[in-house]
Amino acid sequence: MIRYALACAKGHAFESWFPNSAAYDKQAKRGLVTCPVCGDSKVEKAIMAPKLSGTRKRGKASTPVAASDAPAPNTATAPVAMMSPQESELRQKLKELREHLTQNADYVGTKFPEEARKMHYGETDPRSIYGEASLKDAKELHDEGIELHPLPTLPDERN
Ligand SMILES: [Zn+2]
Repeated sequence: MIRYALACAKGHAFESWFPNSAAYDKQAKRGLVTCPVCGDSKVEKAIMAPKLSGTRKRGKASTPVAASDAPAPNTATAPVAMMSPQESELRQKLKELREHLTQNADYVGTKFPEEARKMHYGETDPRSIYGEASLKDAKELHDEGIELHPLPTLPDERN
C-alpha cells in the first residue's frame, strides 16, 4: 500500500491509500480519485509521503497545499473518502445527517473528549453530543473504545 498526499484543483489537501502507484494512476485517470471536501476529480499528488521516494516525477509541478488545509505531520491522519459518481447523492444525505445531528445533539465544544469519556464510563446518561476534538483526542478516544464519527464537512462551509 502506498499513501499519497493529494490536493484537488481548489487546493484541498487530503491523503489516500492505493495498492500501488499504477493503481493510483489508473484511478486518477478515470476520475475515480476525488476530493473528499468538494468532490473534484482533478487531483494531483501534492507531496509524497516521506518513505516513498524514488517515484518518477510528473511533468507538471505539484499543486501547493494550503497551510490551513494541510494534514498535520507524522501520526495525524484526516478522514478521507473516495467517491464514485453514484455516491455523489450521498453528499446531500450527509448534509441532512449533519443538520439532523447538529439540531438534535448537544454542542459541547472542546469539552467533547471529556464529555465522551463521562458518557462512555457511565458517569452521565448516554445522549448525542458533538463538538471539537483534535486528531490526537480522536485517536485516544478510539483507543479507549469510544466510537466517534467525524462530522462531514461540506464545501459550502469551508470556502
Ligand atoms: Zn477539493
